[in-house]
Amino acid sequence: MNKKAIIPVSKNTIFRLKVLAKEKETIRRKLVVTAKQLAKTAKEKEGTRSKLALTAKRLAAVAKEKESVRRKLVVTAQIFRLKAKQLAVIAKEKEGIRLKLVATAEKLRFKAEELAMAIVEKKAILASIGDAVMACDKDGKVILFNRKAVEMTGFSAKEVIGRHYNQVIKFVRELDNKPVTDFIAEAMKTGQKTTMADNTLLIRKNGSKIPVADSAEPIRYLTGILVGCVIVFRDVTQEKETDKAKSEFISVASHQLKTPATIISLYTEMLLKDSGGIVTPKQKEYITEVHNANQRIVDIINTLLNISRIEMGIFSMDKTPIDIIAFLKNGIYELQAGSKEKNIIFQEEYHQQKHIMFIDKLLLNMVFSNLLSNAIKYTPVGGTISVKSSEVKKDEKVNNKIIQENSLLISISDNGCGIHKDSQDKIFTKFFRSENARSQHTDGTGLGLYIVKSILDHIGGQVWFWSKEKEGTIFYFTIPLKTIKKSR
Ligand code: ADP
Repeated sequence: MNKKAIIPVSKNTIFRLKVLAKEKETIRRKLVVTAKQLAKTAKEKEGTRSKLALTAKRLAAVAKEKESVRRKLVVTAQIFRLKAKQLAVIAKEKEGIRLKLVATAEKLRFKAEELAMAIVEKKAILASIGDAVMACDKDGKVILFNRKAVEMTGFSAKEVIGRHYNQVIKFVRELDNKPVTDFIAEAMKTGQKTTMADNTLLIRKNGSKIPVADSAEPIRYLTGILVGCVIVFRDVTQEKETDKAKSEFISVASHQLKTPATIISLYTEMLLKDSGGIVTPKQKEYITEVHNANQRIVDIINTLLNISRIEMGIFSMDKTPIDIIAFLKNGIYELQAGSKEKNIIFQEEYHQQKHIMFIDKLLLNMVFSNLLSNAIKYTPVGGTISVKSSEVKKDEKVNNKIIQENSLLISISDNGCGIHKDSQDKIFTKFFRSENARSQHTDGTGLGLYIVKSILDHIGGQVWFWSKEKEGTIFYFTIPLKTIKKSR
């Protein structure tokens, strides 16, 4: 066993050791204090670090939020940029529209000025026009009454405008002073131009009457909607006087011609009957030609005499009771017999009721025979002619014509050459013959339909027609039922 060697230690060493130990203890204590302080500092630092970490986390969260906000802001900014662009486009468009509107406003101003000028011009034309002009709206209220209308009627524009035309403007028949049918209402109802019956008088404000001729023309929008009617009427006093003078001249001339023509007729008949001695067959042939030609002269003279009598209002009405159906049948029979060579098929369809009319037989015969002989004349060989009669009521519409009063309607239809559209509005005028009629039948006078219309105007009837070239024609005429007595 190893025994530790004991080394002898001096007191000085011991002392120095003790000092050293004491120093060490001090240093240790200081170190403990320092360690404690360091621990405290470390703790503090840890606290600070934790706080810093927390702050860092918060900052990170805030940064994240800020980033998302930033992104949103970027998107919003983009949207705004886009919107701004769109707004710029819209603004540009609006500016374009504004400019166009300015241009349109300018054009409209220009047009308004033009219209104002046109109105002024039209007013000036209407004021200076020689005919009276009155315009009504669709309800019949007068909206225009020109200077001539004021002059002719005696009513001021103020007294007429805004009132219904028939409260102020009155027309009557020359024949019996009865109100004429409302041709203005008829124009508005049918949408077609109408003309007033011949021999119509206008009653002026002071009660005096002047002969007038009128027409009424409906006014439409471009769409076709009816907006009113324009009525033009003129004073025909002068024309009437001239016509009267003409009629008187025709009457005198016809009378003068009738006597020699009747004598020629008489003597040719006597020659044909060998009353003046035997006449050779050849001479008879020539005399027959003279007789027939003279007969045509007599017919023309009679027609002219009838016209002048009707026009001068001196046609005596010899009213006798006539059975209408028997009368029509007889008329057909007579004309059919004279046109055998044409082989025309006649169809007849009569109303049920038997009517007795109190009317001048000669006048009625002139109406019916003129219409029927025209149908025969203008229908080719083998054609068909139908005669029909029926009762019609006031305001009923027959082939675009409004019936003016309860009447008996007689129609004569054929499938002949028809009347060309361009000739249709002249067909009732004196001496008018259409082109196709003139080329096919050289012997017409163009007076038949004029006579028919004059007679019917005289007895208060109506006459009109439908026709299509190469298809045929239907003539209609009415006799007011008040001239008729139903017997069964
Ligand atoms: P006219 O027969 O002597 O020529 P009217 O006054 O009777 O004279 O007739 C006038 C015109 O009307 C005729 O020339 C003819 O053009 C036309 N017209 C009349 N009736 C008919 C009909 N049934 N068919 C075709 N045309 C007709």
